[in-house]
This record gives sequence, structure tokens and C-alpha cells, in this order.
Amino acid sequence: MDIRFYLPTRLVMGTGCVQASASLLASWGTKALVMTGTSSARKNGSLDDVTAALDAQGIAWRLFDQVEPNPGIAVCRQAAAEALSFGAQFVVAIGGGSPLDAAKAAAVLAKNELTDATLFSGPYPGGALPVVAVPTTAGTGSEVTQFSILTNDALRTKSTIFWDGIFPVLALVDPAYTKDLPRTVTVNTALDALSHAVEGYLAKRSDALTRSLALTAMAALAANLRKVVAGDLGPEVRAELMFAATTAGMVIAHAMTTIVHGMGYFLTYEKAIDHGRANGLLLGAYLEFIQAEHPEPVAAVLKACGCADTGEFRALLDALLGPKESLTPEEIARFAEASLKTRHGPNTARTPQREDVVALYQASLPTTKEFV
Ligand code: NAP
Ligand code: ZN
Repeated sequence: MDIRFYLPTRLVMGTGCVQASASLLASWGTKALVMTGTSSARKNGSLDDVTAALDAQGIAWRLFDQVEPNPGIAVCRQAAAEALSFGAQFVVAIGGGSPLDAAKAAAVLAKNELTDATLFSGPYPGGALPVVAVPTTAGTGSEVTQFSILTNDALRTKSTIFWDGIFPVLALVDPAYTKDLPRTVTVNTALDALSHAVEGYLAKRSDALTRSLALTAMAALAANLRKVVAGDLGPEVRAELMFAATTAGMVIAHAMTTIVHGMGYFLTYEKAIDHGRANGLLLGAYLEFIQAEHPEPVAAVLKACGCADTGEFRALLDALLGPKESLTPEEIARFAEASLKTRHGPNTARTPQREDVVALYQASLPTTKEFV
């Protein structure tokens, strides 16, 4: 049994964990840049908890609160400049995947002279500032991954910095911060986590350990997404979704994502469809595509999700997704071409050909007749 597992992130999960872990923060220095999105961290209590913990340790901090969803390179450069001008020795990132990923990129940019292209390719001889991650969505798992996914206008998609040096040194995961996460963001982020678990389970790079984590994550996600459909967004559901999202993050840190993410990035860049929703739209057809060649692992996915067949799996997704966006034939052709050039195809259990990707888009979203 061949297994390779590397997770240098210290993980602390549970209500009140930021306050309880304050003393750990002193390990990385006396000055920190705190990075957040534009408003949610102020409202959900996470920013107050983090700054109180830093204050309690005598750590000086400066706030950078300009990270927008799907961050680009420019905002990461601004944050890196802020870190340098303040003399920050580490970064504390609070928020959804967007601030967490922007913080990882800023941590690299603060220590290396990089062009927009070499930001993604490396190498990073200067290393990176340590990043402490405090997630406030239950979705991306970025708190335990070595990925920073940024909008890349040069390639008109999202590109990934993929480097072990950007694993957060510490993840403080408190589900209470998701208490008031709107239903739409809750669903979209949970669909991202479900996609990580399902894709990771079926990925060519999966192994016995990541498959076991993936089954745990998808079982928790499916069970609790059914509760969300029934209107339950209570604390137990929140805690289970957070646990599952972080667990699914560990899965993709090792097994990586597959053609669903490769295809979904174009829906996000070109159609402004949220990242998790984009994956959720594609996941049902993808499962059927894999099932045709690999029925046994797909049966295991369906069993973990409590579904008798792919029809039931799609029905659960449909109940969460509501009305779907549409694509034109020209968009499908263009996105299919581009997604096959990403690294995601080769990690997919059944290697997708151009016509497969076209069929997957067609089976996932309604097609409008006119060309644009
Ligand atoms: P997000 O883009 O970080 O946040 C989406 C929205 O949710 C923002 O408006 C944000 O507001 C709000 N929000 C965040 N936490 C909240 C809370 N507790 N209560 C109320 N509102 C809250 O969403 P995300 O889905 O977590 O992250 C998506 C990004 O992560 C994408 O760029 C995706 O490509 C990336 N990603 C990364 C990985 C990885 O391993 N690194 C994996 C998958 C996806 P504010 O802006 O005001 O904070
Ligand atoms: Zn994702």
C-alpha cells in the first residue's frame, strides 16, 4: 500500500479555538499582517477574536481588509507591500478561501521578486512568510492546503500557486464564525467541499488514506446538505460542514482535483458563477461519466452520500442549486478546449477527450441556441 502524506499545518478545531490557542501565535514573531475580506470578518467575530489574541501576546498587527472574492494578483502585491512596510513577520488570514489564498500569495510575494508568470511557476528561493489561517466559510479547505488560487487575467482563468511552502503553519477552525453565513454561500461552499471529496476520492492520485478521509467528508457533507435543504442551518450542521470541509481540504492537498475543477474555473472566470456552485453544477454528470468506466468507486461514493444511484445524487444537487445558468454552443466549445489544457484532465480516473468535456458541459447546464 503506497501512501505519501505531508501536512505541516497544526490544526486546532472547535468553538473558541482562536482565544484558546493565542499563545501559539507568538511562535512566528512580534508583528503580523492581518488579512480579511471587505466586511464579513468584522461581523462574524473572527477579526475581534484574532486581534484580541494578538494583543494578548503583545504582537503588533496591521489590518489589510481589501481582499475581494476570487482575488487577482494585484491585491496580493498590495498586501505584500503592506507586510513589508509594516515589517510583518507573519500573516494571519481570516475569511473564506479568497482571503486565505490571497494571504498565501502575499506571503510569497513579500519574500521573492516575481513576475505575474513566475508567481505561478516558481521557484521561490526567498521562502514565504508563515501564514496562520482562520477560515470563516466551510468549503475550500484552504486552511490545510498548499494551493493559492488566483484570478489570472493573462490566461483568462484561475491559476494555482502550488507549493509546499504555503501550507499554513496553523489553522484555527471555529465553526461558530459560519453561524450567519447566508444560505447561498453555505450551499456553494459546501458544494465545493463535496466536489473536493468526490473528485479526490476518484482522482488518479488518490490512495487508501485520502480515500478514507474523502468518504468521511462526503458522508458528513451529504447528510448535512440534506438538513440544509430541509431548512436546518443550526450549530450542529455548521460544525459538521466545517469538519467535512477541512477534511476534504486534506484530501485535495494530496489527491488534487480533477476535470470538474478544470471545467469549473471557466464558468467562474467567464460567467461569474461562484466557484463552489460551478463545481456543484458539473458534479452529477461527472459522476456518471466516471461510472461508465469505473463503477465500483462510484458505487462507494454513492453509498457514502446515502444515494441509491446517480439520479438520487443529482436530485440532491438540484435541490441545492435551483435554477441553472445556461451556456451557448460557442462557450461550450471554447471552455472545453481550454479546460483540456489544464492539469486536471490527467488526474481524472477516466481521461476526458474533447467530446467528453463538451458532453459534460451539455449535460450539466442548459444550452442556449444562439451563438455569441
Ligand atoms: P470567498 O470568496 O472567500 O467569500 C465569499 C463571500 O462570503 C464573500 O462575500 C465574503 O465576504 C463572504 N463571507 C465569508 N465568510 C463569511 C461569514 N462567516 N459570514 C458571512 N459572509 C461571509 O468564498 P469561498 O468560497 O470560501 O472561497 C472561494 C475562493 O477559494 C475561490 O477563489 C476559490 O478558487 C478558492 N479555493 C481555494 C482552494 C485552496 O485549496 N486554496 C480550494 C478551493 C477553492 P467578505 O469578502 O466580506 O469576507
Ligand atoms: Zn474548489
